[in-house]
Amino acid sequence: MTRILLLGKNGQVGWELQRALSPLGELIALDRHEGGDLADSAALSATVRRLAPQLIVNAAAYTAVDKAESDSATAQQINATAPGLLADEAARLGALLVHYSTDYVFDGSGEQARDETAVTAPLSVYGASKLAGEEAIRASGCQHLILRTSWVYAARGGNFAKTMLRLAAEREQLSVISDQIGAPTGADLLADLCAHMARATLNDPSLTGTYHAVAAGATSWHAYASHVIEFARARGTALRVAAEQVQAIPTSAYPTPARRPLNSRLATDKLQQAFGLRLPHWQQGVDRMLSEIL
Ligand code: NDP
Repeated sequence: MTRILLLGKNGQVGWELQRALSPLGELIALDRHEGGDLADSAALSATVRRLAPQLIVNAAAYTAVDKAESDSATAQQINATAPGLLADEAARLGALLVHYSTDYVFDGSGEQARDETAVTAPLSVYGASKLAGEEAIRASGCQHLILRTSWVYAARGGNFAKTMLRLAAEREQLSVISDQIGAPTGADLLADLCAHMARATLNDPSLTGTYHAVAAGATSWHAYASHVIEFARARGTALRVAAEQVQAIPTSAYPTPARRPLNSRLATDKLQQAFGLRLPHWQQGVDRMLSEIL
């Protein structure tokens, strides 16, 4: 029976992984208080050595993108040093490591979707720390799946759609950025992809590598917000702002400590072909999430 170690079990993706990984074997899911603290390298190594899993799935990360700009040492430890350590332990055990990365490893120039061979050039401390994590994993020589994703949401906890619905109920006006383009991707989809891909890679180690893993299609935050509001109003939710009243603003009108890529389009042909999987359109997952929360 495959022994699976899941780290970051209570994050958006980690929570869904608890469900999706459980049929694959003996699942040991930890948070930072249960021996899975990525800030404590010695304790983390000891945990991996004690459990000796065949599959390690790391859903833990420092995801506070703006905060990372003034807290780079912590971001580096959690997003780069700890994944590198997990990779070294995986190499020693002959285990497969699954790890998540981000569209923020790219600078987001141009209009085209980037594939896995595109040049990386992070704009933020967070993006640089995630890229360093990827590089440490690839350098370790362990069997790995690095899944680069974007704009992750889940029904559980806070998310962009819930924030838009709250603001559209409270305010007379709503302005949302329209020049950042990407694909909202459900944590449930990412967890299911992980289970399918890990199972296939345990059977065929030649599948090891870096893959772009996002829902199909692309939208802007503005169009995403408009869609959410339209969906909710059609379901009878009382909102003061209508979808067509949401104002489009450029990123420059909404300054944040961290710079974000404008073009977050990721090409997923490699994943779909290698694993025989199909990535559904982003609206399908968002509508399902909205049906759950409304
Ligand atoms: P979340 O922020 O929802 O979850 C991250 C988890 O990591 C939390 O459970 C958090 O625990 C845990 N964590 C933070 N620090 C530590 C630590 N020192 N030790 C152990 N656990 C820790 O992230 P997502 O589920 O959204 O992200 C999953 C992956 O996807 C990450 O690798 C992220 O970089 C990547 N990604 C996410 C995107 C997004 O839009 N969210 C976009 C692109 C990529 P606690 O609750 O205790 O803080």
